[in-house]
Parts: sequence; C-alpha cells; structure tokens
Amino acid sequence: MSNVYVLYTGGTIGCIGKPLAPMPASQFAQLVASMPGLAQGQVAGLDVPIQFTIEPYTVGGQVQTLDSSNMNPADWVNIAIQLAANYAKYDGFVVLHGTDTMGFTASALSFLLQGLSKPVILTGSQIPLSSTLNDALPNLVGAITLAGKQPALAEVCIYFDSLLLRGNRAVKVNANQFAAFNSPNYPPLATVGTIPTVNTALLLPMPPANLSLATQDNLQALQDLLPKLAQNVTQFSIAALMLYPGIQPSTVSAILQNTTPRVSGMVLLAFGEGNGPSGSPQFMGVLETASANGVVLVDNTQVLAGSVENAAYATGLGAAGAISAGDMTPEASLTKLIYLFAQGKSAADIKTLMQQSLRGELTTGTPTGSRHTAQR
Ligand code: ASP
Repeated sequence: MSNVYVLYTGGTIGCIGKPLAPMPASQFAQLVASMPGLAQGQVAGLDVPIQFTIEPYTVGGQVQTLDSSNMNPADWVNIAIQLAANYAKYDGFVVLHGTDTMGFTASALSFLLQGLSKPVILTGSQIPLSSTLNDALPNLVGAITLAGKQPALAEVCIYFDSLLLRGNRAVKVNANQFAAFNSPNYPPLATVGTIPTVNTALLLPMPPANLSLATQDNLQALQDLLPKLAQNVTQFSIAALMLYPGIQPSTVSAILQNTTPRVSGMVLLAFGEGNGPSGSPQFMGVLETASANGVVLVDNTQVLAGSVENAAYATGLGAAGAISAGDMTPEASLTKLIYLFAQGKSAADIKTLMQQSLRGELTTGTPTGSRHTAQR
C-alpha cells in the first residue's frame, strides 16, 4: 500500500467562517476523515487503498496556517525542508495550499527540490471543504491518488479541476471558476476522468543517480543546503514590474534604487514578445544603467501564452540588456531568479542559467509558434 504525506499549509481548501480563514490542521484532518471513503487516513474504494497522513506546516516547531497571500520566499524553502525531512518515509507528497500564490510555490519547489524522484502535488480549492458544494474533495482525493499511484511522476505538479499540470508551467487563470489553473505553454501532464490519463511523453525523466533524492547522500546534501537558502532568501530583493503605456522612468528607477535591500533582479512583464517603450531614452536608460550595474533584468511577457522574442522588434527590451524569459511563466522567472540568487551565483551565471531549462520550466531552441522565424 502506498503512503502519501499531505502537508497542510492553509488556503481556501481549509477555510471556515466569515471572513474566510483557514482552520488548524488537526480540525481539517478531522473534517477530511468525516468524508465518505476517507476515514482512518485511507483513500478507500481503489484496487489497493492509499494511506495518507495530514501534517501541519511548521516553521521552527511553530505551526503556520496561512492564506497563501501571506506566503513569502522563506516559506517556499521551509515547505521544501519539511518535504525533504519526510522524503524517505513516503511514496508521494501533497501540499495543500491557497490558490492565490500556488503557482509561485509550485515553481519555487520545482527548483528547490533538485533530484526529485517522487511526486509532489500541490492542490487547493476555490470553495472550502467545509462547504456543501465544493471542489475541495475531488481536488484533494485526485491529488492524493495521483501522488500515491503514479510513481513515474518525478516532478512538482499542480492538480486542479481534473488537470495535472507541471508546477513551474502553471498559472492561476480564473479567480472564481473551479478550472482555476492552466499551463498555457505546456500541455497537461494528465487528465483525470473515470481513470487518470497520463501523457508519459511529457513527464520529466527520473533524475540521474548522482542527483537523485532516492540516494541518501543526495537527500542529506539537500537537507544541509535548504536551511542556508532559507536564510539567504531574506538577504536580497527581486522585483517584478508590469509595464503599461505611460510608465514613468522614475517609477522604474524608484523601484530599482529605493528598494531595501537593493534590487538584484527584476522580472519585467513587458508587452507582446517582450517589448517596451523604447522610444523613451529615459526609460531605456534606467534599464541600461541597472543592467550595467549588475541587476539581472528578465524580459517576460504580460501575455498569458507564447514566448518572448525580444530582438524581433525595435522595441524589444533586449536592447536595454534584458535577457529573454522565453516561454517561462512570470512565476517561474521570479522564483528561479530567487533560487539562483539564494545560491550566491554571479549575475553572469544567473543570466546563463535563466536561459536554460533546469526543471522543464522553459522551452529551449527556436520557438515553434514564432511569427517571425519564417521571415528571417
Ligand atoms: N486567498 C486564498 C489563498 O490563496 C485563496 C484560495 O486558496 O483559493 O490562500
């Protein structure tokens, strides 16, 4: 029988009251146990039942029950620490999490858990499990079932409304509907109907033995590294800025100059294929100066799908020293920057690594959907 570790961090799935606030993990576990087929920590009704354990998210021994809007980068690392501490004992992992920042946490975990050889699946819901009509129960049961029954899943995923998505490709696409997540630049890894249909060709391969967390030495190395990263993530600032017509160069420089600690990297949610108001020498000058001073500028698009090609137009922000995010989500770009800076890498190395796929977050090579490839 497979054994799944369920880490309850809070979010709507465990909310109760008015205004909604997440209940403690022990109360949530009791509620789960009262659901049909979920008594005694087992998912019944399967050919072989799955055992699961619901544990609270703790930081330094203190229980944290959070709306995900209150999550910060140190939480991403602390969640990774808790998963790593339980890694050897379980076959798969579910992280119950608010939907608001789930895409960020899923992306961050994908980078933090290098060598992952078991499923880590984040889920939550739009309506709490404590309400009669809810999406919480199918999301919870689906996530536990996939984590317990799909040992070939060696990556961090989001399971939501019957879709299993690569975590670092997923974005929240709807604030109200049950179909809250999608991965616009990568097809779902699996869909769940009466049976799960897994698209095995899309999955990340098992990690090589020299990296795999299935090996005790690698797991130990990760357990040694993560507490250092939890410290490091508080030592620098990464910013994200959506461009808009009429943006003042002084707004951009205020963020770059006046943030404490000083901004080391910035994700620009630019127009279209990575364009900006290049007609403003002041705007371009602010970015050029920042780039020359070692700030890593990442040119993302504010468009939901497609890839950045920031040399395609004269307005491309590549001219100001911004590197292309390709088809990474803003969530993946931001968390990847934080992950790389937390490791103390140089700006030059970070620029190189940002343009490589570390965990399947980026499509490398010529973008197949490019409108311009044929013209060049
Ligand atoms: N505010 C909630 C959260 O992100 C929303 C949700 O879970 O759906 O924690």
